[in-house]
Amino acid sequence: MEYSFSTFESLLEICNKENKKIYEIMQEKEAFDFEKTVQSVRDKTEKSLNAMKEAINNGLKSKEKSISGLCGDDCYKLLEKYKRTGTIFGEVFEKITTYALATMEENLRMNRIVACPTAGSCGIVPAVIIALSEKYKSNKEEEINALITAGTIGYIISAKVAMAGAVAGCQAECGVASAMSAAAAVQIMRGNEKQKINAAALALKNILGLTCDPVSGLVEIPCVKRNVFLAIHAITAAELSLADIESKIPPDEIVDAMMQTGQLMSPLLKETSQGGLATTKSGILIKKRIINTQ
Ligand code: SF4
Repeated sequence: MEYSFSTFESLLEICNKENKKIYEIMQEKEAFDFEKTVQSVRDKTEKSLNAMKEAINNGLKSKEKSISGLCGDDCYKLLEKYKRTGTIFGEVFEKITTYALATMEENLRMNRIVACPTAGSCGIVPAVIIALSEKYKSNKEEEINALITAGTIGYIISAKVAMAGAVAGCQAECGVASAMSAAAAVQIMRGNEKQKINAAALALKNILGLTCDPVSGLVEIPCVKRNVFLAIHAITAAELSLADIESKIPPDEIVDAMMQTGQLMSPLLKETSQGGLATTKSGILIKKRIINTQ
């Protein structure tokens, strides 16, 4: 079907008019635009899901450090902690936090991950979708629906803002991943289309201004742990949205604010590693240590 939308408002209008869900509209649009079948779009999505699961499973079993030696064993440490004392938030929290770490650590080991939307934010969407699918015993088709929903959110945001820390800071990477995950979480928890978009809006709105200041220019500090925090952030947004707590600022205006915030952000805080955490005393020491060991 020939659908055209580049805003959340127009997407919701189409969903209401056609009485279809976000993923249905998106998979039909993708099939039409690229002259494929809906089934082939879903098959491709399933491949991404399988790669996400593989990265999680591999990451959960490894404590191999990255080449820099900075990161790589946090997932192992967290799993050990949960074995000893569990968590006050329960099994889903354990899964989301460890799945996000597992995926990000696979990324820094240079193993296969799915960039969603970027490699630096690759832990958030898989952690949320897979952990919630396990909780709600979702089948393969439901997981695919959730991932297409997440992708649709990213698609709309990317119509206005390039998803790169160098362009708009980490709000455009981990922030967008969190918004994508929030909508996917609502899809899995069977919310309506408005709630899915509102969840994405709530997640994005509450992460505006997040800088990109990786220590030594590596996608490790703060990126790895940031994925864990923003995966949980997505669940908060989903829960609020499922309670019909609405963002008072409409979703499309939040994307506009994100774009403006990215433009106003100093280049020192946009992936150049010339400000923020990268230029703290410890950030500089870490960088020197890495250079000296090369
Ligand atoms: S801090 Fe920068 S490099 Fe790291 S995940 Fe965020 S945008 Fe990517």
